[in-house]
Amino acid sequence: MRSLSKFLLTASILTGLLGARPAEAKLRVAASIETLADLCRQVGGDRVEVTALSHGYQDPHFVEAKPSLVLALNRADALVYVGLDLEIGWLPPLVQQSRNQRIQRGQVGNIDASTAIKVEDVPNIPADQLRALGDIHPLGNPHYWIPPKSARGIARLLAQRFAEIDAPGAGAYQAALAAFEHRLDAKEKEWAKAAAPLRGIKIVTYHKSWSYLAGWLGMQEVGYVESKPGIPPTASHTGQLIDLMRKSNVKLVIVESFYPANLARFVAENGHARLVVSPSDVGATSAIKSYFDLVDAVLQALLQ
Ligand SMILES: [Zn+2]
Repeated sequence: MRSLSKFLLTASILTGLLGARPAEAKLRVAASIETLADLCRQVGGDRVEVTALSHGYQDPHFVEAKPSLVLALNRADALVYVGLDLEIGWLPPLVQQSRNQRIQRGQVGNIDASTAIKVEDVPNIPADQLRALGDIHPLGNPHYWIPPKSARGIARLLAQRFAEIDAPGAGAYQAALAAFEHRLDAKEKEWAKAAAPLRGIKIVTYHKSWSYLAGWLGMQEVGYVESKPGIPPTASHTGQLIDLMRKSNVKLVIVESFYPANLARFVAENGHARLVVSPSDVGATSAIKSYFDLVDAVLQALLQ
């Protein structure tokens, strides 16, 4: 008995030191937004237990820091986040408060999804200077998760990292990744065909959050309702934007549901364009349960 309890004590100390997990336990993953949570589920299957830290109907730049989020982070084996400062206003303090070494920066359980994609709009001005000016995208554009190319890259990163943390699951993660990519390849062809009428059209968006989508579908961004990312529009900026829209025949004004729709509607009406209130994350409405549902819903909103 004595040697057993001594063994258990030693084992638990070693487990604590090495950060190893019991073989039968599920990999606990916290994801900053619901789309990332869904991609974790697609790749992790029943080996993972995923918690989304925000809701798809919320503005992901500003999420309320509730104690329940600290608890979820404290228990997590991995944290998956958008990065590029998208969550800078709420996530870093929570990660610190979680006192969970496994998810701190530099650890295998700290998964910055932006490392899996080609970052666009990287400014050539130092991030601190841009931040001081109120620009909330000083490291490049973090709104990248909708195009299939991004989802594919993120899913591959997740499969690799999950396998590093949970080696016995490596085969299962690879198989789930292959199934996801197979489905994605088919859906990508379907989406490209459906979105053909959008190619070449000019758009204005509320926030600079549709650039990757515009690049994927061949839409041309003409301007933004915000004067800078994160900075509310001024009357003079709005006036100039409306002038520009009339001159350049802008067809759509795209806005997420959590931004003030009345201003976007004013811009659309005066600029002779159609207003599109679009979901931008899984969970934006109760019908959008997966990444595939999200892209379907975005295209449906644009094509209506
Ligand atoms: Zn943003």
